[in-house]
Amino acid sequence: MIQRRKTRVVKAGGVLIGGDNPISVQTMTKTHTEDIDATVQQIKELEAIGCHIIRVAVPTIVSAKCLGAIKRQIKIPLVADIHFGHHLALEAIAQGVDKIRINPGNMKDRQKLEEFVKAAKDKGIPVRIGVNSGSVRGEGDEHEKLTTLMVKTVLQYCEHFESLGFKDIVLSLKASDVPSTLDAYRLIATQCDYPLHLGVTAAGPPSLATIKSAIGIGGLLSEGIGDTLRVSYTGASELEIKAGYDILEALGFHKRAGVELISCPTCGRCEIDLVNIVEQVRQRLPGDKKNLQIAIMGCVVNGPGEAREVDIGIAGGKGFGFLFKKGEKVRKIPEDRMVDELLEEIAQMSPK
Ligand code: SF4
Repeated sequence: MIQRRKTRVVKAGGVLIGGDNPISVQTMTKTHTEDIDATVQQIKELEAIGCHIIRVAVPTIVSAKCLGAIKRQIKIPLVADIHFGHHLALEAIAQGVDKIRINPGNMKDRQKLEEFVKAAKDKGIPVRIGVNSGSVRGEGDEHEKLTTLMVKTVLQYCEHFESLGFKDIVLSLKASDVPSTLDAYRLIATQCDYPLHLGVTAAGPPSLATIKSAIGIGGLLSEGIGDTLRVSYTGASELEIKAGYDILEALGFHKRAGVELISCPTCGRCEIDLVNIVEQVRQRLPGDKKNLQIAIMGCVVNGPGEAREVDIGIAGGKGFGFLFKKGEKVRKIPEDRMVDELLEEIAQMSPK
């Protein structure tokens, strides 16, 4: 069991971030926010697959003025992503968003920044201070390590917000390379108790970003660091949500309802057509959310061990397989009957 870092709790709409609250999974829409129908449609699709918090880009006053109409049609908290224009942040607050994400470094006018902080405080709207590696480069001593500079910058912003009596803060310090991301979050985790939003920024296409995120976000979570996360893909938001859940599941922070299929990679010991069998079983698995673990293993080397530890499993032999249920060897099944008999057995098993 991973011990999570102790953090303050920040409330974004109906979602609590930090403390002992579940690690929330978020993403951004990829529509133009001004297109209210398309944005709402995308958010509803993301809600349906478990997105906890949704962020939308607010590049113009027109998009800011659409936020209220979007919010009224969705269930999950709406976060306005603001760069530069403090008038956009004020409009987003007036529209009733649940959280604002800004990089204070982009609001150079101190008075305007303070006006924004006051408005957020008056409405009880939390703010994510999000600093990316690109935004601090060149800001400090040229010999200063990038991650140290990121942390120093974020802490200065926090101090400024605190001096205005504002502590409803979530922090992010994303870098596009994994080691810097790990360094920055590890360091900030020792310096304050604000909840942390994890991510590896501009991580690339799914094939690459999945690996970067699994190491970057997953690595931090495995150390107890992180309260909410966004996997970022050059790709569909749905995939970002699924990857976020996969990371949480791999670390035991989330348990998906439904069947979990375990199968071996096969090797020269396998004497059944395991790839085909696994694919057929996967396609025909019941969709009734039974919480079952199934193992389909290629041979008797590791097969019986795995098959015994799950609810139901098969360990392959030469043209046949042994069926195991709840740790007991039940019977021998010929290869051509394996898929059907396994699915029949699963259909008769009661959910856990
Ligand atoms: S279970 Fe058997 S077939 Fe599958 S990878 Fe392991 S040794 Fe190879």
